[in-house]
Amino acid sequence: MSQSEEEAAQQCVSCGIQVAGMNAARFKCPECGTNISRCAKCRKQSNLYECPDCGFRGP
Ligand SMILES: [Zn+2]
Ligand SMILES: [Zn+2]
Repeated sequence: MSQSEEEAAQQCVSCGIQVAGMNAARFKCPECGTNISRCAKCRKQSNLYECPDCGFRGP
């Protein structure tokens, strides 16, 4: 029952706020598969995200 959920590190990749429990978009980096979260605000503003692992940037 301890499937480590990525609760600890759920931060918006654009602005850095905690997105746990928020209506955040979650997806994987198309380059390296790292989980990326982005808060609703940044999604609305269409901020670019940057993968913390490989530096991939996308809309
Ligand atoms: Zn944000
Ligand atoms: Zn990546």
